[in-house]
Amino acid sequence: MQIHKFGGTSVGNAERIQQLVAIVEAERKRNTRLVVVVSAMSGITNLLLEATQRAAQGEVAAITAAGATLRARHLEALEQLVSDGAARYAVAAELEAFFDRFARIGEGIALVGELPPRAQDFIAGLGERLSARLVAAALGSRGLASVACDADRLIITDDTFGAAVPDLAATALATRERLLPVLDAGQIPVVTGFIGATPDGIPTTLGRGGSDYSAGILGAALEAEAVVIWTDADGFMTADPRLVADAQVLSHISYAEAGELAYYGAKVLHPKTLLPLIPKGIPLYIKNSFRPEGTGTKVSATTGDWHADVKSVTSITGLALLTVAGRGMLGVPGIAARTFAAVAAAGVNVLLISQSSSENNLCFMVEGRDAERTRSALVKALSLEVHHGCVERVEVLAPVAIVSVVGAGMRGRPGIAARIFSAVAVAPANVIAIAQGSSEINISFVVAESEAAAAVSAIHERFELGAKGLG
Ligand code: ADP
Ligand code: ASP
Ligand code: MG
Repeated sequence: MQIHKFGGTSVGNAERIQQLVAIVEAERKRNTRLVVVVSAMSGITNLLLEATQRAAQGEVAAITAAGATLRARHLEALEQLVSDGAARYAVAAELEAFFDRFARIGEGIALVGELPPRAQDFIAGLGERLSARLVAAALGSRGLASVACDADRLIITDDTFGAAVPDLAATALATRERLLPVLDAGQIPVVTGFIGATPDGIPTTLGRGGSDYSAGILGAALEAEAVVIWTDADGFMTADPRLVADAQVLSHISYAEAGELAYYGAKVLHPKTLLPLIPKGIPLYIKNSFRPEGTGTKVSATTGDWHADVKSVTSITGLALLTVAGRGMLGVPGIAARTFAAVAAAGVNVLLISQSSSENNLCFMVEGRDAERTRSALVKALSLEVHHGCVERVEVLAPVAIVSVVGAGMRGRPGIAARIFSAVAVAPANVIAIAQGSSEINISFVVAESEAAAAVSAIHERFELGAKGLG
């Protein structure tokens, strides 16, 4: 059994969905048990979230406008994908019921002027409920018997709306109970990505870009032989192809390398996707739905046969660097503990930490939108230290970016850091802070956001990761 997940651009219109059908048809010849996982059509999740946020500010017209776009995009695709009148009518009626719920909930939000997280999550996941029905209908009209399945009956999570955490054991039970009979009947379940539900059935979402994670969760629950992520890039590449024109596909990387790349900005895979797959050793493949004949990237426990030192360079922008500084911090125990306890209590995620050996400053990276909240939490938590003068400042520097250089072959090889930083110097980009994990498969550093792209290109070129280097 295999899981095949199709991202937003791979279900973005009728033509893309037809391509999906062709891919599934070809896979079906080799493998009779397939589970398809789908994202919302490209742009739909943003459309839904922006409209409801505007509705919460009283702008009810935003709901009407978004509702019209939602309806037009899905009904137009349906029209082109399903020629049989009765079948089309049945699916259209199901879609209409969702458009209706969107309008009614949206109007309710505008009326009360508030967007409860629970309502936000239900709305955010509507795009997946619509695309799953569209894709199942398209497969059906090509003679591939399929059933749309809402993952809120399969993926059981806690109630952290917007970033829900799955209960893998409960999920495995629910998924096996509901999907195995569908597979046994020779049908293809088309499962909504991105969404889950609490044990009492309240819909949640797994975080933006979370449909990849859904595929990983379902792959582990069903003990799949492989999980395939179909997207608009050729695989994991030596850099984001939107930043570096001659970026190359990596044919085989390890779970650890892929995890670092995804965590540090390679948007092609949601960073949590591999977590459920690693303990079971299930391989993941990334392939381009625009060029299905390409080999793509395999991600598994081993690193594959390409022993390059540096394999890929990524970046994340829109971040802030917080610095806690003061000459009196030297030798005072507990400041780091209190700093990070305060950050955790504020519910803020830390992406990178660095401390200089003189111990008179400690700095770490957070999302730009969390910066001010984090700073005030720190000022409060460290008020005693500030009062006694051991902490002099809590500063925010933004916008900044993390650039991350990844490769298992870097381990134990001297001189890599020197080559990285000499390339960055001539980019030119100024390095603000540096962190290297003790695993040595990742060196990350902080630069001004405006210098990130130049730093990525310079490192890519220096290590000859582009077409010229590999050829
Ligand atoms: P999907 O909608 O299929 O989930 P995403 O937009 O989430 O697709 O992810 C695919 C995008 O990730 C690509 O279009 C590419 O620009 C970007 N990307 C960033 N870094 C990398 C990388 N190292 N390798 C491949 N793609 C990358
Ligand atoms: N549709 C969701 C999003 O845009 C999930 C996904 O595409 O993976 O975040
Ligand atoms: Mg994605």
